[in-house]
Amino acid sequence: MTPLEDLLRTLGPPLQYLATAPPRLARSALPFRVLREKLALSVARTPDEATRARLEEVRGLLDGLAGGPLPPPAPASAVSGDAEASAALRRLMALVADLRAAPAAAPAPPRPYRGSSDAVAGQLQNLETPVQFVKGVGPKRAEQLATLGLTTVDDLLFHLPFRYEDRRDVRTISMLQSGEHATIEAEIRGVRERFAGRRRILEATAVDASGSLTLLWYHQIAYFRSRFHEGQRVLLHGKVEAAKGMARMLGLRVVHPEVELLEGQEDADTGRIVPIYTKPAGIPIGAMRRLVHAAVDQYAGRVPSALPTATAERRGVVDLAAALRAVHQPPPDADVDELNAGTSPAHRAIVYDELFYLQLGLALRKHNVVAERGIAFPVPAARTRALAATLPFAFTGAQRRVIGEIERDMAAPHPMHRLVQGDVGSGKTVVALHAAAIAVDAGYQAALMAPTELLAEQHCATLRRFGNPVGLTVALLTGGVQGKLRGRTERAIARGDIDLVVGTHALIQEGVAFKKLGLGIIDEQHRFGVLQRQMLKRHGTNPDILLMTATPIPRTLALTLYGDLEVSAIDELPPGRRPIVTRVFNQRRRESVLELLARELDQGRQAYLVYPLVSESEKTDLLDATRMARELAAGPLARYRVGLMHGQMRGDEKDAVMRRFRDGEYQVLVCTTVIEVGIDVPNATVMVIEHAEHFGLAQLHQLRGRVGRGEHRSLCFLLASYAQGDVARERLRVMEETNDGFRIAEKDLEIRGPGEFLGTRQSGLPDFRAANLVRDGALLRQAQEDAAGWLASDPGLASPASRSLRAVLEARWAGRLELARIG
Ligand code: ADP
Ligand code: MG
Repeated sequence: MTPLEDLLRTLGPPLQYLATAPPRLARSALPFRVLREKLALSVARTPDEATRARLEEVRGLLDGLAGGPLPPPAPASAVSGDAEASAALRRLMALVADLRAAPAAAPAPPRPYRGSSDAVAGQLQNLETPVQFVKGVGPKRAEQLATLGLTTVDDLLFHLPFRYEDRRDVRTISMLQSGEHATIEAEIRGVRERFAGRRRILEATAVDASGSLTLLWYHQIAYFRSRFHEGQRVLLHGKVEAAKGMARMLGLRVVHPEVELLEGQEDADTGRIVPIYTKPAGIPIGAMRRLVHAAVDQYAGRVPSALPTATAERRGVVDLAAALRAVHQPPPDADVDELNAGTSPAHRAIVYDELFYLQLGLALRKHNVVAERGIAFPVPAARTRALAATLPFAFTGAQRRVIGEIERDMAAPHPMHRLVQGDVGSGKTVVALHAAAIAVDAGYQAALMAPTELLAEQHCATLRRFGNPVGLTVALLTGGVQGKLRGRTERAIARGDIDLVVGTHALIQEGVAFKKLGLGIIDEQHRFGVLQRQMLKRHGTNPDILLMTATPIPRTLALTLYGDLEVSAIDELPPGRRPIVTRVFNQRRRESVLELLARELDQGRQAYLVYPLVSESEKTDLLDATRMARELAAGPLARYRVGLMHGQMRGDEKDAVMRRFRDGEYQVLVCTTVIEVGIDVPNATVMVIEHAEHFGLAQLHQLRGRVGRGEHRSLCFLLASYAQGDVARERLRVMEETNDGFRIAEKDLEIRGPGEFLGTRQSGLPDFRAANLVRDGALLRQAQEDAAGWLASDPGLASPASRSLRAVLEARWAGRLELARIG
């Protein structure tokens, strides 16, 4: 489609609409402004003189309609204003008709790919048309739609139904049988409140030509009472049951039916599969459906399907325009269950499309990093062999695999950007040390940044223990290192006398300069922002970056969250670990759990007690750390030394408490979830978590990882409030069954969904319009593979064939993915 054709298509419907609704004209200058902009573009792109002249005239008319003060609403002048406007409109329509009829301007020289990507760009721009251009959407509806964030045609097209109702089979009341789910069209009669025992209920009768049926509501009675009146025509959907007790004679009933009011004279939406949309308050279900469908009728055909043909064919992905139509207006033979599950072929096409462009964007971002020049470290390094020989254990298979992946990255002439995921205790630190040894052997320095002083100290001790024997010098640089020692350390780093610097944020503060940084390692990377990673990077000349995390993230999430990183998993624990024994107890059995805990303390062990909240809250009766520390110290644990730590303490206060616990001064640490991931107190063998039902599984697993780090058997008690057969209990059972962080993470993601899993707000996940990471894992992996493949064959999306891909990519994701260097 040429820009001109496209423009004419766009102009047609609003003009017709305006022509039949002159009084509205005065209020709707907005569409003209949008059209004017489109027109300016078209004029500029039209080579043919005559056509251009006519377009200019159209532009003049639009200017007149859009600009200038509009006639005041006083009747007299409004008439003349309307008359003028109508004349202008008639002329406009004539011109447009004329332009449409005119033979297409001499075709431009064939430039197939450029041409097609321009068309894609034009189509995409079209989709940015305000919703007001959709038939049936006036200023009021537009405002209502905006409350759901639906402002453009594109928004409407991708506002997918959240549910489908099978109304291919609308029944009459006399045909209904108890036990079936059915849809009927009926009239409401006799809405009345009454008491059933001591309970107030709402009752009504639904009547059609064949019989009647009782409708019942137990909740939100006032609301439903105000909604239904005598004589209303409705579409009802629900489970039909036999009326109970005295009313049995009265036949069938439906409790809390889904009710759609049928307005005016319109026909019921029956005889087909009907999509149900989330909608703004104030727009009835039926009206919402009609206006989404109007958008589909008018615009779906213009949604560009720019996926590479071969890819789309291989994945069995149908054309996006057709998919949108099918999702909004399912054909009569569609599978309702598939539609409701979001797995129909049409859904899959839309989801795949969305995921492909996401992955393409991420792959591009990764590619930009990879394209930078970095250090090609010689591998294998002599010192890593020495290290392996002096370590008191052999690497696990998983460690060896990850080390291999790191070595491949480090040997490449581009900066490494790799994330290593591994459960607590899986042995990430020695893997990091191995990488550092490679860097140092090549004459570079390495730095390891941890989120807290305590963790930095702990890492420093470990790295010294294993690193010193192979000649690695290790120094600590945290906020706590001050005075002369600090000056000495900083100078040694600058001279290059220190091979491996371990620290906190202090590492990236001013005044710290490395002689030659070749590798930056970041522990618990999610605690640091991108900016901090960048700053560490700037310390060297594009050093390699290794990120580590003890929070296993399911692969699907990692692919979207860290699509621009390479990801490795240490998914195996060193041999001989004694699994932590986990038991779930009802909160009522708290005393017995405290007794078990005391028994461990008496044997010289230590324990953590975790609570969900910091301070007393009026709304909930959850135990809170502050109050409980006081009560426990005064009561059941009076014989023991009890410490308290919570999130409202300052960092140094927390570190001080944690040190006292580490050194055995405290036997019990009462705390909130602030106890650090990775903190190593081997003598702590009991973890008690109260109100465990308030935590996600992944978080429980993290907390549990604080114990089980020494030679003694460790215990984890999860106290929770639940009734018999409760889902809360079922969920917690997973914790009893496995110690595998990856399995738990998958389960947690399944149960809670991605937003909750990652902590909604700062999750960093893009807002999907159609995709669901729990459901669409397989499609995501395909999309990732395809996008990476495409980019490998055309790095930088420079080829003609990539131009439309790029147009879509920019429209969909550029802003959201910060693809600064997309071109
Ligand atoms: P992470 O940082 O992944 O939580 P660490 O690196 O602290 O785990 O390792 C936990 C403990 O296991 C440390 O004491 C470490 O020395 C030890 N360890 C690491 N790898 C092995 C291995 N392959 N075999 C035995 N012990 C190991
Ligand atoms: Mg490298």
